[in-house]
Amino acid sequence: MVVGEVAVETDVVVIGGGPGGYAAAIRLGQLEKSVVLIEKEVLGGVCLNRGCIPSKALIHTAGEYHKLSSLNKLGIQLPTGKATFHMPSWQTWKSSVVDQLNKGVDYLCQANNVTVVKGKATFLSSDRIGVETGNDFETYKFKQAIIATGSRPYIPSFLKTDGEYILDSTDMLALDEVPETLAIIGGGYIGMELGMAFAKLGSQVTIIEATEHILPQTAAHLSQEVLKQAKQLGMTVKIATKVEQAEVANGSVTLVCTSEKNGSESITVHKTLVTIGRVPNTGELGLAQVGVEMDERGYIPVTSTGSTNKSHIYAIGDVTPGPALAHRATKQGIVAAEVIAGLPSSVDSPYVPYVIFTEPQIAGVGMTREEAELQGHKVKAAVFPYRANGRALAMDEGEGFAEVIVDQESHLLLGMHVVGADASNLIGEGVLALELAARVEDVALTMHPHPTLSEVWLEAAEAVLGHAIHVVNKSKVAVSK
Ligand SMILES: Cc1cc2nc3c(=O)[nH]c(=O)nc-3n(C[C@H](O)[C@H](O)[C@H](O)COP(=O)(O)OP(=O)(O)OC[C@H]3O[C@@H](n4cnc5c(N)ncnc54)[C@H](O)[C@@H]3O)c2cc1C
Repeated sequence: MVVGEVAVETDVVVIGGGPGGYAAAIRLGQLEKSVVLIEKEVLGGVCLNRGCIPSKALIHTAGEYHKLSSLNKLGIQLPTGKATFHMPSWQTWKSSVVDQLNKGVDYLCQANNVTVVKGKATFLSSDRIGVETGNDFETYKFKQAIIATGSRPYIPSFLKTDGEYILDSTDMLALDEVPETLAIIGGGYIGMELGMAFAKLGSQVTIIEATEHILPQTAAHLSQEVLKQAKQLGMTVKIATKVEQAEVANGSVTLVCTSEKNGSESITVHKTLVTIGRVPNTGELGLAQVGVEMDERGYIPVTSTGSTNKSHIYAIGDVTPGPALAHRATKQGIVAAEVIAGLPSSVDSPYVPYVIFTEPQIAGVGMTREEAELQGHKVKAAVFPYRANGRALAMDEGEGFAEVIVDQESHLLLGMHVVGADASNLIGEGVLALELAARVEDVALTMHPHPTLSEVWLEAAEAVLGHAIHVVNKSKVAVSK
């Protein structure tokens, strides 16, 4: 290894080129700071290379494939014979999507004068960072640094992944064939999204979830819709069940599980996916050299500007406590860049939306009814079902509902949640409404285009006020003249 003698000087180093790090670096470039972005693998991070984008490419494909069996009822007759799915061709298509996005990020970094360095970074002191690049070791002297090194799957020691039989989400998205039988340990959003996609592609899927319901982070009445659909897809869902042991033998995996209901039982499958959480990549950064504090789980606590306990070092994205979501990482990255450039910026909104790309999709922003009540609000809420929406029926997508949660006294919107087709796009309206501190009347008085799924918000808001047109209202309309 050649050790670089002279440190390259820069205003800011950004460690990690995921959606947090590259957004921060581009914004710093726009604000005319000199910036070095260090990435040990490929620009785009987990999100672009092995998370959001590849998983949504798989989910899209699985959805299209699965729809083929219901086209007949719409009058579309396919040639006789069964459609087949060829996973290697899908891998080629997925890689082309990822490549195109990688190139886009690379181009934008160049266009904004970001110096991209390929290598593994470690802090050497409070103003120097060392980067291992193959056989070389370069040092960079910085005024400020942003840690954006993201997270990796949490794998307990008894479930060692081997890339062939016991897989993490990255291995799963790289498969060349659809496993005949698949067990998924963890019924959170990654497990349910991938489980439903593989079930649609033909796998016999068993979900094993330790808590009382799948998608434990969402309200039970929303996840219930997904459970219904999982059963229709022929999936087996075991709740309140823990995997205690895993053994690979004769080309399959045997899992020993325990639950109060069924005692101890074993399941033998071709492949097992472990998706029970993520851990921050903070262990090998040399944070002790700079005195950056971490909590007991390795996360770096930050202020609303992204600053750590060392005011010239910032942390963003999955290395910070909070939901591990790409849009949160990007927002934090942009804010940290702006603060470094002297702009008054902060992450001060409580509204972090979430989207789950299951069947049906779930998306939400703000409080659930239970959370609002716990916070002392007197709540008014109403749901509007997809089956009463013309566009949903015309799309053959009658499952699901939109829910609007409102403070009874002020009529301010507290939360908007939706489970059903295209929930991922519909939630944009909810995020904007809550961000603008809208009252339920603001949604109800807004003319929504017809026929669209967006009318589910209009009618849920009207239902809160007791005058929805396309459902019978539970509460009476207060008539004022
Ligand atoms: C299967 C899956 C599906 C997902 N789907 C969604 C979704 O639909 N929506 C959503 O919002 N989120 C989703 N996520 C989560 C999302 O991917 C992450 O929240 C997001 O990528 C975090 O961004 P980040 O910038 O903090 O870090 P990352 O994307 O993890 O990027 C960190 C980068 O830092 C690099 N790095 C680490 N250590 C060093 C070092 N020492 N030196 C140099 N480089 C280093 C890594 O190589 C990596 O490229 C999904 C995740 C998975 C696994």
